[in-house]
Amino acid sequence: MTPVPRNPEKHPSFFDEGDVVGVLTTQPLDRRLDYLAPEGGCFAGAFVEVPLGPRKVLGVVWGPGEGTFAREKLRSVIRVLDAAPMREEMREFLLRAADYTLTPMPAMLRLATRSPELGDPPSMRTIYRLGEAEPDRMTEARSKVIAVLEEFGDAAFTLGELAEMAGVSTGVVKGLVKQGAVREEASPRDLPYPPLDPGSAAVELTGEQAAAAEALRAGVASGAYETTLLKGVTGSGKTEVYLEAVAECLRQGRQALVLLPEIALTSEFLSRVEARFGARPAEWHSGITMTERRRCWKMAGAGRAQFVVGARSALFLPFRELGLIVVDEEHDTSYKQEDGVLYNARDMAVLRASICGAQVVLASATPSLETWANAEAGKYRRLDLTARFGEAVMPQMRAIDMRAETLPATRWISETLRRAVEARIAAGEQALLFLNRRGYAPVTICRACGHQIGCDHCDARMVEHRFLKRLVCHQCGETKPIPATCPSCGAEGRLAPVGPGVERLGEEVSAVFPEARVKVLSSDLFGSARALKAEIEAIAAGEADIVIGTQLVAKGHNFPLLTLVGVIDADLGLQGSDLRAAERTFQLMRQVAGRAGRREKPGLALLQTYQPEHPVIRAILSGEEEAFWRAEAEERRQAGVPPYGRMAGIILSSPNVQEVFDLGGEMARRSDPLRRIGAEVYGPAAAPIARIRGRHRVRLLVRAAKGSPLQSALAEWVGQFRLPANLRLSVDIDPQSFY
Ligand SMILES: [Zn+2]
Ligand SMILES: [Zn+2]
Repeated sequence: MTPVPRNPEKHPSFFDEGDVVGVLTTQPLDRRLDYLAPEGGCFAGAFVEVPLGPRKVLGVVWGPGEGTFAREKLRSVIRVLDAAPMREEMREFLLRAADYTLTPMPAMLRLATRSPELGDPPSMRTIYRLGEAEPDRMTEARSKVIAVLEEFGDAAFTLGELAEMAGVSTGVVKGLVKQGAVREEASPRDLPYPPLDPGSAAVELTGEQAAAAEALRAGVASGAYETTLLKGVTGSGKTEVYLEAVAECLRQGRQALVLLPEIALTSEFLSRVEARFGARPAEWHSGITMTERRRCWKMAGAGRAQFVVGARSALFLPFRELGLIVVDEEHDTSYKQEDGVLYNARDMAVLRASICGAQVVLASATPSLETWANAEAGKYRRLDLTARFGEAVMPQMRAIDMRAETLPATRWISETLRRAVEARIAAGEQALLFLNRRGYAPVTICRACGHQIGCDHCDARMVEHRFLKRLVCHQCGETKPIPATCPSCGAEGRLAPVGPGVERLGEEVSAVFPEARVKVLSSDLFGSARALKAEIEAIAAGEADIVIGTQLVAKGHNFPLLTLVGVIDADLGLQGSDLRAAERTFQLMRQVAGRAGRREKPGLALLQTYQPEHPVIRAILSGEEEAFWRAEAEERRQAGVPPYGRMAGIILSSPNVQEVFDLGGEMARRSDPLRRIGAEVYGPAAAPIARIRGRHRVRLLVRAAKGSPLQSALAEWVGQFRLPANLRLSVDIDPQSFY
């Protein structure tokens, strides 16, 4: 994406009472609606409540009205909501994001107004401070309350907080209020966030880190748009470096946003922020309460949240003066929203920053090929951190050629790996066994007839989860008990698990290392992010000898005692026809290996593979990253696929299989708008997962040259067809996965 000139068209910024204004609502309508500005007028961008039929709905004053209806037929805006008006740059961002992702504007506005009770007046709460008067009689309990208030100076407390801190009943506080010794006040619930101090405890940076931090600081100070790839091996201190860019942003009086891929990371991250800036930042993710959500949304808009840490949807917060967006682990697939509005938060961060003149930092040890290519082409600046913190080096990587190992069919730990694990345990160190498969076994097969148990609603096999004592469909979440007899041939007791999941690997580990303390880390084994965090902390503190984990462990957790990583099946990600399979395997293996040897102890990564000569495996082992990226880039350039060409995936789904194939065929035939821009259409074909939740899925793929006007051609093409009532069509620009 490239920066754009700002403020393409000028609109009035204020509308007087009775002016005709165009309001974009969150309702699924294909146009804005005209209303009359309310008493007192309203600003352009104002959040308003408007009548729509018998209902009241949320909207934003987008600009002057169309004026197609007679004035006297127009209804008035009901009221202007208590929120800072949406800024013009935000409106432009939503428009351009809608164009890019081919999303209707009301859906974009819904993304940007994900705050509960926007229409309510700010709710008040009662707080308590030190009063002027002396109590008539000073008891011991009363003096404790006064002491707490005096100790904290001007601070205010809720009733419960104050009573608890003083160790008295709430009645004692109330008694002091009656006497005027304690003051009771009403205060808005949505309080500004505590100020962060950019000058507070900065950590000492190494020469390389200091140089990168200085470059980022200079970028932020310039006040202009720019994107930087901050590439650093695991443990090189990327976070410390980009927090210095955040510090500069705070000094400039602008707001900073850090996007993280996973909630589990947030608490560790928040503590680091608190240590650096003396207070915690605002949070925005699915784990926060509704009250916090509303507070974060409102304070971002009021400029009273200086620093927000959040998941991808934080990009749609109404920042008042955004100066910096950091996308940490920018290659992470969770940045791609795969439901509803299909967008990639990394690309949208670049778009938003280019509109508001902010800096973007894309941080990763293993960047996406798109980002790598943009840096190669000079569109993004690139900063490299090559040294690991505390003298540690990237672990040594070796393959274990599984063709030379003799293992029974129900064992997955080779003798070579077993000996390596044993040596670590003897040395009081930790080993990680990595297997990117949840559950007990990926396939349950009948040994009498060969039938594999599948999901009733999807074309997917059911995965046995022994922990849950059920079979689970990883596509739709459907579960059922493990049957006693084969549903196909009726044979009894012949169903058998095939292949390993982490639970089954756990059994093998317990059998092979009976003395070892074993922990299994898999997202489905923990009820909450908090339970998972506790488990991670226990491991970091040395309460396990062997850790078994899925890709959950690849994401930035710090295990100082870990010195060995064994990858059970390095070939797993190489199967399948996904365009990004090689890139993903490369990234995942590098990240997992990066877990080993983060302190002074050197690490070792052992990859069990049946194809040690595969180019991706060889690139992983050699550690020659740039060679891997260049080879992968060349393959994609030859094939004309992203980032050297453009692609869009169209998925049609319906309970009626005939309908989806009929429409798919018609779309392939009537593709003139696409052919005019030189684009090619492939399909229709059954999607790789041809049925999910009972809906049949058909896919078309569109490929076009880089720089061609793909979105407008797609919009014209799709607009030609009338969709049957039960058929859903979704367009995915730059698809990340092809299911
Ligand atoms: Zn059978
Ligand atoms: Zn299913």
